[in-house]
Amino acid sequence: MDWDISTDVVVVGAGGCGAVVALTAAMLGGVDVVLLEKDASVPTNTDMSTGVIAAAGTRLQRAAGIPDTPEVYAADILRKNGGTSDPALTLALCQRSADVIHWFIDELGIPLELETEITRFDHTYLRMHGHPTRSGVPIMQALRERVGALPGVRYLDRTPGRGLLSDAAGAVVGVLAGPDGAVRRIAAQRVVLATGGFGANCELLAAHIPEMAQAPYFGAPSNTGEGIVWGLEAGAMLAHMAGYQGLGYVVPDHNTRLHPGAITGGGIIVNLAARRFEREDLGYSEWGRVLHGQPGGVGVAIWDEEAHRAVAWTAQMVESQQAGALARCETVGEVAQRFGLDVATLAETLAAYNRAVAEGRDPLGRRKLPKQLIPPYYAARVCGALAHTQGGLRIDLHGRVLRPDGRPVPNLYAGGGTAAAISGDTPEGYLSGNGFLTTFVLGRIIGEHVVAALRRAM
Ligand SMILES: Cc1cc2nc3c(=O)[nH]c(=O)nc-3n(C[C@H](O)[C@H](O)[C@H](O)COP(=O)(O)OP(=O)(O)OC[C@H]3O[C@@H](n4cnc5c(N)ncnc54)[C@H](O)[C@@H]3O)c2cc1C
Repeated sequence: MDWDISTDVVVVGAGGCGAVVALTAAMLGGVDVVLLEKDASVPTNTDMSTGVIAAAGTRLQRAAGIPDTPEVYAADILRKNGGTSDPALTLALCQRSADVIHWFIDELGIPLELETEITRFDHTYLRMHGHPTRSGVPIMQALRERVGALPGVRYLDRTPGRGLLSDAAGAVVGVLAGPDGAVRRIAAQRVVLATGGFGANCELLAAHIPEMAQAPYFGAPSNTGEGIVWGLEAGAMLAHMAGYQGLGYVVPDHNTRLHPGAITGGGIIVNLAARRFEREDLGYSEWGRVLHGQPGGVGVAIWDEEAHRAVAWTAQMVESQQAGALARCETVGEVAQRFGLDVATLAETLAAYNRAVAEGRDPLGRRKLPKQLIPPYYAARVCGALAHTQGGLRIDLHGRVLRPDGRPVPNLYAGGGTAAAISGDTPEGYLSGNGFLTTFVLGRIIGEHVVAALRRAM
């Protein structure tokens, strides 16, 4: 074949996963990396995230006296997804999670701290590590700045990947890339697909996640699923395509979202009939579908000053506040009037909820009943949304893409939203942090494996 560019490794997609793969490979040294990005001016899922990374056995946890281990973490993931993820892959990711936190802090200079402001119900221990703003933006910015400054990486923005090139035996040997009219052929010994998931692809959503195909999408517009399609065409097997993370707390009128702590810290959600309809300590991923299924697909979240104070400083709440998405109301009547709810019903709903907290027993089965709701209240009209997809190309412990017979597609890797994740086939299977475990941690594993494989081949 005639080639326009020749390199050791092509990484397609410069989001969270692609940037970590490129950084890892280039920092280990001795390899030439081309990193392709469709359009860096469009926010990635990593930008749009809360930026909290779950990890077990970090020094931050140890300093806080938390006796966490990768085994406990893996057991939490498997409990949440009903044992449907590959146990070996799940454990392997958990085992590397602490290293990645330390690498971010020590070598990439990304400040991370232990998240203590909210309890993530299905995690045995506090193990979310976040940027002080609780936003993914500064993390993505730091990764891209670092990648742009490394001599071993050619970072090509506005250069979309267009497809894989394979030889007659089915081994991947390069990619097509570039804008219309300037598509180039790039030869590579290894190709890493890190184009994100398929949340912005209506056809793939209708085929694999029909229940959320019509729901609002709160993820990155760039996640159009082409890496998954190319992998499939190259002979790969798909897995967990029905899996996704939902979001129950999107404020549709302002295109912002609430921090989950507003609800888990004591808030409730009522429907347009002013009644509670589901236990609010259900995971925020499950809440996406639950709320989307309500009449009109919306509800009203109500929390109070104490719950608000715990999370008011987070990026999501600051943004919501600035956008005018949060109503502060002195009385139940004011909440009812602002959101068009029947005041008598809402008053009874709040009174019944406070009785349930006092008695420690909720008719809807909410087990975490942190406190009674007392005025002043905060409220927002919320809807259920799709955040990001969790299905994709089936991979092995090194991120190599697998065929239906279990053998790798030669030279091809996938990570982040492009790889089949560890959340099973339902939104219930998503445990907070599963996103970055298969993004940053898997990205690091892939970067290391690619370099080791190339060195062996030399
Ligand atoms: C609202 C929200 C909150 C979240 N919060 C968290 C959280 O706190 N913790 C957590 O663990 N997970 C969280 N997640 C999930 C997490 O953000 C994702 O799992 C993660 O960002 C996926 O990384 P990625 O690299 O696969 O995708 P992205 O970061 O979206 O990067 C994909 C990149 O590929 C590029 N691309 C796409 N197609 C092409 C192409 N053809 N050619 C070249 N480039 C291409 C895109 O432009 C983009 O730059 C959240 C997700 C959302 C939506």
